[in-house]
Amino acid sequence: MRLRGLLCIATLSIGLINHALGATPGPVPPTADRKLARDILKQLIEINTTHAYGSTAAAAAIRDRLIAAGFPAADVALIAPSEHPTKGNVVVRLRGTGRGVPVLFIGHLDVVEARAADWSLDPFKLTEKDGWFYGRGTIDMKDGDAAMLESLIRLRREGFRPDRDLIVAFTADEEAGGDANGPAFLLKNHRELLDASVVVNLDGGGGAYRNGERAYLEVGTSEKTYLTYTAESTGPGGHGSLPGPDNPIYRLGDGLSRLERFRFPVMLTATTRASFEARAELPHGPNSADMHAVARIPPDLAAADRLSQNVYFNAQLRTTCVPTLISGGHAENALPQRARATIQCRMMPGDSEQHVRAMLVQVLDDPKISLTLDAAPIVSPESVPTAAIMSRVAQVVHSMWPAVPIVPTMSTAFSDDRQTRNAGIPSYDLSGIWIDADENRAHGRDERVGVREFDESVEYTYRLMRVMSQAGKP
Ligand SMILES: [Zn+2]
Repeated sequence: MRLRGLLCIATLSIGLINHALGATPGPVPPTADRKLARDILKQLIEINTTHAYGSTAAAAAIRDRLIAAGFPAADVALIAPSEHPTKGNVVVRLRGTGRGVPVLFIGHLDVVEARAADWSLDPFKLTEKDGWFYGRGTIDMKDGDAAMLESLIRLRREGFRPDRDLIVAFTADEEAGGDANGPAFLLKNHRELLDASVVVNLDGGGGAYRNGERAYLEVGTSEKTYLTYTAESTGPGGHGSLPGPDNPIYRLGDGLSRLERFRFPVMLTATTRASFEARAELPHGPNSADMHAVARIPPDLAAADRLSQNVYFNAQLRTTCVPTLISGGHAENALPQRARATIQCRMMPGDSEQHVRAMLVQVLDDPKISLTLDAAPIVSPESVPTAAIMSRVAQVVHSMWPAVPIVPTMSTAFSDDRQTRNAGIPSYDLSGIWIDADENRAHGRDERVGVREFDESVEYTYRLMRVMSQAGKP
């Protein structure tokens, strides 16, 4: 996953202005650490970890570097499900003094497929060009993996002893397939390795440049829950020359038209309220007054209506359900006996499957349309942006990039956070990578990260590990 929140309103900046145009540079690691981080990034990019190849080779490379850096073998576990030996994970523990429950950093090792023919460079070679590193995974998320690994090695070399154990899990199968998802597998089978009071995930969040300036930095504190239903209508069928009143294609079509006109009720969470408040304060933020008004308790529904014209804000304000697949009938010259549609829902944290289903049944409004849930959802409760967590985040962010506005964010898509949140561990997306607000090459062609931005994110990750592993809440 890596889906930036404010993409849809990023129309204010004109074109793709080069990154970091007028932004004050942030601190970077010492030369040797900078070099090590780049070497690790190169190594990871050049190990193909798409679904067909798996992540075990990358996990082994990480394990070897950790052992070489002096981590005891007993604190570095390389684990793959026995039925999926190529879907390896590596979990490492930097032992603390025991003052507090551990903190867990997670990062996925797999990448989305990349066809060399579509790219202007080899996607599985790290290429440095014009201030950028190009390659599949440079932004999603081998950049974060490299930053975490380098920081662990640096902390170990410096003899850093955290208050509480600092656990880092480099995991398999986030992007595609999902049959051997690392966090899900580890939480189910090796829970003791991952037990923590808080999770930091570098797969989301991060800074956005606008017109070359540092505009804001997002912190992901919640995500919507993925739910899929099948709506189905059946009828008697018959000869195509004798149409009658009970046609399942018309029935289903009418139901879906009613769904198109329907909107789920406005619902705000601690995250989306804080998010609208923070966005309203951004310079040149459009709709500032409406954002303040919708964040009030109770929310201003007229303001919510106006904001909902924008698909991104609409998705922030309510559960959404939309048909994504449709099929029906069995022959050109026969009346249909069946029509079927897939209805894809993204449920607000705090909403329930029962409620979504009840609303859909009411909206489809036809007892002859049945509704079935395709798979049990992985419900992802909100990780509240508490003062305790946000003050730690601000401490690190502002030590790097002073006075940058921090925006708590609810993702409309899901990430591995849903596994850890579902397991009861509050989880925060805390990437420190800066990209242009208009740029989104994750999963796309010519994926890239700024060289300077990568260096800064390594330093940021190092500082984040130090601060997050201090005793006290969270
Ligand atoms: Zn990702």
